[in-house]
Amino acid sequence: MRAGNLFVISGPSGAGKGTLVARLLHEVPDAWVSVSVTTRLPREGEVDGIHYQFASGEEFQRLVNEDGLLEWATYGGNRYGTPRASVEEHIARGDQVILEIDVQGGFQVREKFPAAHLVFIEPPSLEELEKRLRGRGTETEEAVAARMETARVELSRKMEYDIRLVNDDLDVATAALVGYVNEQAEKTRG
Ligand code: 5GP
Repeated sequence: MRAGNLFVISGPSGAGKGTLVARLLHEVPDAWVSVSVTTRLPREGEVDGIHYQFASGEEFQRLVNEDGLLEWATYGGNRYGTPRASVEEHIARGDQVILEIDVQGGFQVREKFPAAHLVFIEPPSLEELEKRLRGRGTETEEAVAARMETARVELSRKMEYDIRLVNDDLDVATAALVGYVNEQAEKTRG
């Protein structure tokens, strides 16, 4: 059996992290993805407990105070965090634990778990990223502009990640991500 490992997947909103993680879960049987807590309102089609655990500002703060979050960050005016207990349980159980979180959170995880593997998902270009964000149809003009600004900040830190994958062709990017996770996990096979 392989030991449990921790993988952080970051990259600008619209780079396709969600789709890549869904495919990874399908292809790697011992992969498990953490469900984050957020104070953001649910988007259409998002289900509490599946996409996120939706929480009020007070509930989120209570988790912070109780040391219930492994990391947390403010993104676009909302707070996001990773529940600590479930992540630790899944690592102990031998799962490949996936955190789909922003770069601020990624670096907090590296501090606490130096063995974590940090994967940065890049869009083919900023133009393509903007096109994808608009194509979603869920963001206002203002939100698109804010996410593009955040994307520039996130991209400026990509060299600090362990590996960068350009999500141009989804099949190619999926194969690269699955290959990387399996390669790292195999090193811990006992
Ligand atoms: P969205 O609002 O588009 O779902 O997410 C916005 C950003 O927050 C994305 O970059 C996403 O990866 C990040 N995010 C989601 N959950 C967490 C979390 O638990 N912690 C941190 N630091 N970022 C998160």
